[in-house]
Amino acid sequence: MIAVLKPGTTDAQIENLSSWIKLQGLDVHLSRGSLHTVIGLVGDTSKIDADLLESLEIVESVKRISEPFKSANRKFHPDDSVISVGNTSVGGNIFAVMAGPCSVESEAQVMEIAHAVKAAGATMLRGGAFKPRTSPYDFQGLKADGIEILIEAKKETGLPIVTEIMNANHLPLFEEVDVIQVGARNMQNFELLKELGRTQKPILLKRGLANTLKELLMSAEYIMAGGNENVILCERGIRTFETYTRNTLDLSAVPLLHELSHLPVIIDPSHATGVARLVKPMALAAVACGANGLMIEVHNDPAHALCDGAQSLTPETFADVMASVRQVRSALGGN
Ligand code: PEP
Ligand code: MN
Repeated sequence: MIAVLKPGTTDAQIENLSSWIKLQGLDVHLSRGSLHTVIGLVGDTSKIDADLLESLEIVESVKRISEPFKSANRKFHPDDSVISVGNTSVGGNIFAVMAGPCSVESEAQVMEIAHAVKAAGATMLRGGAFKPRTSPYDFQGLKADGIEILIEAKKETGLPIVTEIMNANHLPLFEEVDVIQVGARNMQNFELLKELGRTQKPILLKRGLANTLKELLMSAEYIMAGGNENVILCERGIRTFETYTRNTLDLSAVPLLHELSHLPVIIDPSHATGVARLVKPMALAAVACGANGLMIEVHNDPAHALCDGAQSLTPETFADVMASVRQVRSALGGN
């Protein structure tokens, strides 16, 4: 349930109403938007008399929210969320580009790629240290050493770092990580999501291979219900019967998620297609349909990459994609 407040409502009046709502056993979610202030009532609202609430002097209107996701719901928070990440942010007018190798392989590899993607305009460095591989015999990542290398690259380039967590017990290793990625395979690892909800780290939540948008938003809700509202959604392709691509990129997810939620939405054309030459057209399409950013795999030697070489761009092709991304953004009136 939400209560939209009348313009000019004072802080003291909001405080009074919030205390009353909390006395009814509910949590309060306050959103001060550019047009309206909205109070979200979270919990079992069945005992709240909507007519009584609406009759209060400061309340303009009251609506019940039928969707099961509340904190992630656009109705709770009409303005786009902008999530701060180090010296940059994701959401609103800022276009985020997270780029780097699928796996951290060595310090020299990460440094070379980090400098190259920064020069091309990436806003964050992304690399996998803990890798969720389909086969237990494949490279599993450099783990803690990989995170150390990313931290070194952050010191050298100033780029905030993004890397994936697979086990909540590893959280202490992520202290200096700027964005914690939850991979597609862990989208519904609810215990992991709850732990991440107890932190204030920005979380990049990838859509599961066979999950609906509602399920993605419910997973975001798990993180937000714990008090961490810094969630970035990522569409990375879903499994269909098509085999020419690794997955099928669901670009309609972008406008739909923007309708349903205030959270930023980024597109990962690398895992969505699995094919390096398809990354550019899909990246440009993502920009055109309103994505708040991109995640792109870049490797200095894709032919010898320990993971996902076939979908990795070279630093040169990445720079070319970035130049076209800027053109599409300026054609659309963005910066
Ligand atoms: C990744 O981002 O490296 C990754 C493993 O992606 P996904 O979880 O989308 O498969
Ligand atoms: Mn990968």
